[in-house]
Amino acid sequence: MIPVKAYAAYDATNPLKPYTFERKEVGPNQVQIEILYSGVCHSDIHTAKGDWGPVNYPLVPGHEIVGRIVAVGSEVSKFKVGELAGVGCFVDSCRTCPSCQSGEEQFCDEGMTGTYNSVERGTNIPTRGGYSTSIIVDENYTLHVSEKLDIKGVAPLLCAGITTYSPLRYLKVGKGHKVGVLGLGGLGHMAVKFAVSFGAEVTMLSHSPSKEADAKKLGAHHFALTSDPETMKSLANSFDFILNTVSAKHDHDAYLNLLRTNGTMIVVGAPPAPAEIPVFTLIMKRRSIIGSLIGGIKETQEMLDYCAEHNITSEVEVIDMSYINEAYDRMNKSDVKYRFVIDMASLK
Ligand code: NAP
Ligand code: ZN
Ligand code: ZN
Repeated sequence: MIPVKAYAAYDATNPLKPYTFERKEVGPNQVQIEILYSGVCHSDIHTAKGDWGPVNYPLVPGHEIVGRIVAVGSEVSKFKVGELAGVGCFVDSCRTCPSCQSGEEQFCDEGMTGTYNSVERGTNIPTRGGYSTSIIVDENYTLHVSEKLDIKGVAPLLCAGITTYSPLRYLKVGKGHKVGVLGLGGLGHMAVKFAVSFGAEVTMLSHSPSKEADAKKLGAHHFALTSDPETMKSLANSFDFILNTVSAKHDHDAYLNLLRTNGTMIVVGAPPAPAEIPVFTLIMKRRSIIGSLIGGIKETQEMLDYCAEHNITSEVEVIDMSYINEAYDRMNKSDVKYRFVIDMASLK
């Protein structure tokens, strides 16, 4: 067994605290990764707080993982010891259903095996995530990470990156499209970078006036303060797509109204409570709402390769593991520029 140091949520209300546990030695098809950096996603907070349903405490969150391979199983052919590797939001799936067969394991009919708050398939062993010193994962659910990029900024690509890249690609967003990105946090700042890179005209839709200069630095062509009624009025019927990354309850109707005829809102933000569907706002202009969940292994690799080629990384604030509770508090106040990334060396 491999001893692992970690931080865990022990319940829904108290701060995360140090935790130690053991992981099984690498199996024939697995790789062992010494975790170097782990991004902090708002989904970690939702899960730790029990926003989305039952939690198997102690919970070790973290699904934006980058590290170095320190051991490989006897059958492993895709990775070697010493290489950089990444792990995202899931570590396994059924491998046989239509979604798995088509490379969209995130939609597995049996449910993907989450990197945390799941159980290893066919066992009762809880999966534990990236707020830890090492992880052992099947090579087919492990990503190649380029040595070309600063890996601190690569970690958030494993969730924030793929979650925004995937729906923009699926809907073929690019030149000639006007795109609004709603919410400038971890997902939002990657959405701006990708939409701009794909050739779209991008407007940052934010409720934080202080983020205007940063939005422009990230490449957004325009900034709109959503708390200003005049701005909202002037933007009515103007976007082909709105990529909605908001983590808290909000008025979908107000933003759907900014879509032109046939416009689409892509929902990736996952607030705890269900939203009402404002049917008339959809009907009157044949607008639609589509959801999207991270991306499959094949597309995640494609996204990482695209980022290496185009020099795209996340803007990060590197923190020690012990800062995690302050980081959560700040994210709940929309105060993050634009992803916290834990330096796992602070835990060793
Ligand atoms: P984050 O970094 O905390 O950013 C969320 C942003 O939403 C904030 O920075 C803020 O932007 C905006 N916001 C927050 N509260 C708001 C409110 N009351 N009204 C309007 N805007 C508000 O979070 P994240 O890590 O990007 O995650 C965002 C959401 O996506 C979370 O719900 C997360 O669970 C979900 N998620 C989904 C997937 C998926 O596969 N679908 C994957 C990862 C994460 P401004 O200050 O600019 O307004
Ligand atoms: Zn995430
Ligand atoms: Zn499946």
